[in-house]
Amino acid sequence: MAAIAFIGVGNMGGPMARNLIKAGHDLTVFDLSQELLDAMAEAGASIAGSAAEAVLDVDVVITMLPAGPHVKSVYEGEVLGHAKPDALLIDCSTIDVETAREVAATAAEKGFAMVDAPVSGGVGGAEAGTLTFMVGGPEEAYEAARPYLEVMGKTIVHTGGSGNGQAAKMCNNMMLGIQMISVAEAFVLAEKLGLDHQKLFDVSSKASGQCWSLTTYCPVPGPVPTSPANRDYQPGFTAAMMLKDLKLSQAAAESFAADTQLGRRAMAIYEAFAEGGSEGVDFSGVINMIREAKS
Ligand code: NAD
Repeated sequence: MAAIAFIGVGNMGGPMARNLIKAGHDLTVFDLSQELLDAMAEAGASIAGSAAEAVLDVDVVITMLPAGPHVKSVYEGEVLGHAKPDALLIDCSTIDVETAREVAATAAEKGFAMVDAPVSGGVGGAEAGTLTFMVGGPEEAYEAARPYLEVMGKTIVHTGGSGNGQAAKMCNNMMLGIQMISVAEAFVLAEKLGLDHQKLFDVSSKASGQCWSLTTYCPVPGPVPTSPANRDYQPGFTAAMMLKDLKLSQAAAESFAADTQLGRRAMAIYEAFAEGGSEGVDFSGVINMIREAKS
């Protein structure tokens, strides 16, 4: 069993760290929130006073932080100067490709093996240990990371060199954002045409309109009882998180001259939704804004 430092034990990192403890690993955790640290101590983790202290003497460092600047400052400011030279570094946060490649290059210069391993599957997937990991980095680092990722997830895909995990994540979530809006628009149109939600679901979930936003996360109450629409759009995956991911994909599309017109439009729609006071609402709640819009 390995000694693992886990930095960032929030909504996702907390349950991921718990699954590693349950699998018998020896965890030292650090977060800026004392409340979260107290909860992790109860779950059996050792608590460190800083990220630098957490990574001393561990075999593996895992981070699950909000965004690129946090990842850059935690690695460049604390982890790389204090971890053992043979420690394996795994960043599971969702961040921009450029920062992921920059941090991995700095880590490689200092001799560390590092992967970017963002996840899909949300808090439910983190709790159940069924996340999907998209892993960017050298083959050897991927192979070394795999046993730990398998404790926290079900599907682990090596997507290429450093930053390619983040590239896969942002492309996937651009599809997700666009598809959620498309499903929401179709249900609102159906309402105006006098077509019952369940009837549209029965047809489209078996026809060519089917997608995850419809079959797993249906944005109207009823057809998929576990979807956030059935609990007044409590998250799940917040509109703010969706907007963050769409902004990442659109910044990348601009830098790399990719034509992503629907991605851009989806970003504008989520910007209006989040900035209208719904940033903490599940992203499927966008249907309510679409329903109320006057064309
Ligand atoms: P969160 O805000 O609940 O957790 C992030 C944690 O990092 C917080 O507890 C915060 O205190 C801690 N933190 C911030 N700066 C720190 C620092 N310098 N040192 C130590 N700890 C620090 O967020 P989350 O929902 O767990 O998301 C984490 C990452 O996972 C994000 O990049 C997000 O985009 C991604 N993600 C989230 C979901 C989801 O459904 N919530 C799904 C897939 C991916």
